[in-house]
Amino acid sequence: MKVSKTILITGGAGFIGSNLIKELLGRGYQVCVIDNLSTGNIKNIEPFLNKIEFIEGDLIDLETVKNAVKGVDYILHQAAIPSVAHSIKNPLDSHNSNLNATLNVLLAAKENNVKKVIYASSSSIYGGSPELPKEENFPPNPLSFYALTKYAGEKYCQLFSKLCGLPTISLRYFNIFGPNQDPDSEYSAVIPKFIKLMLQGKQPVIYGDGEQTRDFTYIDNTVEANILAMESDISGEVINIACGEMISLNQLVEIINKYLGKNIKPIYQDERAGDVKHSLADISKAKKLLGYKPIVMIEEGLKKLIDHYERIKK
Ligand code: NAD
Repeated sequence: MKVSKTILITGGAGFIGSNLIKELLGRGYQVCVIDNLSTGNIKNIEPFLNKIEFIEGDLIDLETVKNAVKGVDYILHQAAIPSVAHSIKNPLDSHNSNLNATLNVLLAAKENNVKKVIYASSSSIYGGSPELPKEENFPPNPLSFYALTKYAGEKYCQLFSKLCGLPTISLRYFNIFGPNQDPDSEYSAVIPKFIKLMLQGKQPVIYGDGEQTRDFTYIDNTVEANILAMESDISGEVINIACGEMISLNQLVEIINKYLGKNIKPIYQDERAGDVKHSLADISKAKKLLGYKPIVMIEEGLKKLIDHYERIKK
């Protein structure tokens, strides 16, 4: 079925963006993508290039953004340099691509009467406070420039909704994993890195005792949350998106071993400064406001991802 709505996905050549493209095309939406291919990869969108409009461009340039936004109904704003470590090494880069780019997206959206902007925010905003599960109204405590840009982006979204009448929703993602996540990048997330190493029979490295926990969230849940947020009547809200379940890194290695039929032991190294010990989301707001519920839980997600890597022999 053809849906006459046009969605602009910023950062569409990245991990989350490319998964959004696939699902939205499947549901009959028209899709445009803008990406500067800095952390993203053209390979992620190659299968869709004949079905989407792709603009290779930088969101730091307002005129480029304004051109990309013409005729667009909704924007799923995923583009950012999604790395804490990079932001500490290069705060200006992070500020430009995460915050200045977000302001440009909001300005262009307002000028073009876009129906809604969905903003990819991050659980890093909560920082290291020990209270669990994290509720959206907990005081923010960004511990890196990355988290700070993500938090300021949320505030820009809320003020554009309040002061300029532009509907926005910020989705605070918790440790998303799935296909198209780069296991080889310097800042690679733990799940693709561990699976890739363990498929090769190599030992993954855990910093600390492995008892640190995360609310790992399979990509299908994130994609669904974006579509629900886009189609909802809600605006100006910040909403956690996760599974609402946590597992430790030791358990993660155990589950991967189980699915691979191996018994690989991790290598333990010193804890890294700044790493949060536990992370778990309260997802009741997402359930209440968006009708969201996780559709793929962690174990099933890991199984799907291992199957995917085995298929593509990465
Ligand atoms: P990704 O690096 O795979 O995708 C980001 C995309 O944005 C890349 O394709 C990159 O080339 C593009 N981009 C960066 N700067 C740009 C610019 N100035 N102009 C145009 N394009 C630009 O990262 P991802 O994991 O898919 O993350 C998507 C979003 O979700 C990010 O905003 C990130 O902060 C947020 N997020 C991700 C996670 C996670 O677990 N993956 C968790 C919390 C928040």
